[in-house]
Amino acid sequence: MLRAMSEVFDLTCELIRRRSLTPDDAGCMALIEARLQRAGIHCEHLRYGVVANLWATHGQGGPVLAFLGHIDVVPSGPEADWASPPFEPTVRDGKLYGRGAADMKSGVAAMVVALEQFVAAHPDHPGTVALLLTSDEEGPVNLDGVRRVAQHFRETGQRIDWCVVGEPSSKEKLGDLIRVGRRGSLSFRLTVHGIQGHVAYPDLAKNPIHGAAPALAELAAARWDDGNRDFPPTTFQVSNIHGGTGAFNVIPGSVMVDANFRFGTASSAASLRERTEAILKKHDLDCAIEWNLSGESFHSPEGGRLREAVIEVCRELCGVDPEPSTGGGTSDGRFIAPLGAEVVEIGPVNASIHKIDEHVALDDLERLPAIHFAIAQRLLVG
Ligand SMILES: [Zn+2]
Repeated sequence: MLRAMSEVFDLTCELIRRRSLTPDDAGCMALIEARLQRAGIHCEHLRYGVVANLWATHGQGGPVLAFLGHIDVVPSGPEADWASPPFEPTVRDGKLYGRGAADMKSGVAAMVVALEQFVAAHPDHPGTVALLLTSDEEGPVNLDGVRRVAQHFRETGQRIDWCVVGEPSSKEKLGDLIRVGRRGSLSFRLTVHGIQGHVAYPDLAKNPIHGAAPALAELAAARWDDGNRDFPPTTFQVSNIHGGTGAFNVIPGSVMVDANFRFGTASSAASLRERTEAILKKHDLDCAIEWNLSGESFHSPEGGRLREAVIEVCRELCGVDPEPSTGGGTSDGRFIAPLGAEVVEIGPVNASIHKIDEHVALDDLERLPAIHFAIAQRLLVG
């Protein structure tokens, strides 16, 4: 049974009902846009290909505080494994269940409600308060979501001073962990060429696996950096190796290797590339390498106004001292930080995200809009 509890609860349920699997927004954007426009908030569509992005703003000029989120969700997995259908919001034991309940339709609903409340309370606030939503965060490529929007902002000169990402950051209790940065992610696909031949006649062939193996061993053993105060040391992992014809008696003509770096501010994508290529060169491989940078690392240092405001709000409204963390995977914050923005992520408990029976605690859901409201109030009104 569902009962109407509050605006944020109702809106979260409305969003969960829309099956917005990446990149389909399934009507979420239209629903949010209609609400925001009623509240006098200006909405601009930034559609790229099949991806819907929404840029909603109120006020003018700087400073600019932007809330950031995504309305797309990952697939539910087998629906029969769920205790209640994933796209039917359901309350049980003080929790709201449904795909996206934690990642991150509750966060989006809270940011929308907080924005409406903030604009109603401070119609003439200084600067600009904004909301950026995408429907392409969970997908494998993320070309036409926030990455493209950030490109557009760079071209049009749209600045962002502070960016609050509403991703589920908390560990056990709402507000117990905030993300103040993320590691960068850099991948490569290496193809090493040899000469195919009979294993009994190796002098008539050239084995690319034998060529690649010592180079990979050196890459795997390398210490890329020692990390620093804000980030652990850079890690390197090989994820795939493909080579061979399947036959025991054939030396393959080539081998393909995929690998990934996760790095903090002690290294950069450029420095990692350079060192990798030097190692490959040393091993004298006939090879081609394709690089893919998902994002550089970013970090919002201690003393930043947004970071301090979020910490104070967590203490005041959640009664916890948040742990400032740079752990976990990457987030859309990586595209906004290079615009010069201070980026901090604060959201509900992430224990159930992407899982069967994803949920958010109702108590946490009800407190989320107040957190966003209080952050906006501190930064824009003082
Ligand atoms: Zn998410």
